[in-house]
Amino acid sequence: MAAVTKAPRGTLDKLPSIAYKYRAVENIALEIANLSGYREIRTPVFEHTELFRRSVGDTTDIVQKEMYTFDDKKGRSLTLKPEGTAPVARAVIENGLLNEALPLKLCYITNCYRYEAPQSGRYREFSQFGAEVYGANTPLCDAELIALAFTLIERLQIPQSCYKIEVNSIGCPECRKIYQDALKKYYEQFKEELCHDCHTRLTNNPMRLLDCKVPTCAKFKNDAPLILEYNCDDCSDFFATFKMALETLNVPYHVNPKIVRGLDYYCNTVFEFVCENGLVFGGGGRYNGLMKELGGADTPASGFALGIERIVSVIEGYATSSDVQSTQNVPEMYIAGIGEQSAMLALKLSHELREEYGIQCLCDIVGRSVKAQMRFADKTGAKFSIVIGDDEIANNVATLKNMENKETLEVTLNASEISKNI
Ligand code: ATP
Ligand code: MG
Repeated sequence: MAAVTKAPRGTLDKLPSIAYKYRAVENIALEIANLSGYREIRTPVFEHTELFRRSVGDTTDIVQKEMYTFDDKKGRSLTLKPEGTAPVARAVIENGLLNEALPLKLCYITNCYRYEAPQSGRYREFSQFGAEVYGANTPLCDAELIALAFTLIERLQIPQSCYKIEVNSIGCPECRKIYQDALKKYYEQFKEELCHDCHTRLTNNPMRLLDCKVPTCAKFKNDAPLILEYNCDDCSDFFATFKMALETLNVPYHVNPKIVRGLDYYCNTVFEFVCENGLVFGGGGRYNGLMKELGGADTPASGFALGIERIVSVIEGYATSSDVQSTQNVPEMYIAGIGEQSAMLALKLSHELREEYGIQCLCDIVGRSVKAQMRFADKTGAKFSIVIGDDEIANNVATLKNMENKETLEVTLNASEISKNI
């Protein structure tokens, strides 16, 4: 029976005690993104496997080890999306969205699937909020994207002392080529000591060497050559303007010359949001080569993705955002009834308070005693309560009780009067 009563490994039930936080983060994210002109896009849960092989890249951990790939009944190879950008880029090309006014700004909230070893902050099903800009090849575009993520983090009241925005420039394909040769040369000295994956990276994707999390490899990162020192003049200028724009927008940042994105189509800007405990809760960069790689018109693009599970864990650890708390599902009002006639009136008044006044109101629907009803009301955290009995019906008046400070007030028994007093 375990298969029936236990969720698959690496998945997370978001129970009501936490689901509202996800909803709040998602709503605030979309609201802020809309202010900057990002429009929401939703793409399928699965895509042709080839899309991710081409876009995420055959040499990445995602494609090599982490994808949920299966054949459908017609033998097509499909994959549950491991990230949000490739499907968006595919939808942009397929639906001709680049014919609309450029830059095209899109945002998404999506589940992602990666077969990873589950651990804290690492799941097999997780969700991302992402924003992307197509058709702008400027440092201002990249700074505006980071400012969007920063505004979200600020709205969630995550203290600035808890995390860092780390930025870097990985240059253009020309200057990066020279860097990669230098990096390869550096790592070749330690070839014997590198892990199996890093051996492959050395030939296929040297920049990913800097990403290795195996401790015996990670130590070599310290003295590795730095890509910023290899940026050509144009790339250095781009990075300088990008930093200036961040300063103009009051976005705090730290240059970390060791952040990379190991894919050929990335260029210039890369960044990560890193929590003080080392947890990376988001990242992004410029991927000018992606659209062409996927067979679309050669269009510059830039974007980021934030992991929502990780953001919620940061909120749990550090923030008490009033915007998030206010979305907690606590009833405003509980109307108790003693006897059949009162129960019917409680049902009617509750319905009217909800429908006409938008007040979240509960009443008894299981036939409990009034004592048990009040115990239940307490458990729900209802802010106000009313008890209706024969006397209240006869006088058309009842006592409205503030459950927190216990103050009471006589109110006429109709929805309009009740609504005015809570
Ligand atoms: P990591 O280095 O932690 O594996 P990544 O480089 O694979 O992260 P990205 O592909 O950049 O991550 O995805 C963007 C964000 O999505 C991450 O910063 C993180 O917040 C979130 N994320 C990625 N993988 C997972 C996962 N398995 N579980 C939960 N969140 C994840
Ligand atoms: Mg990963």
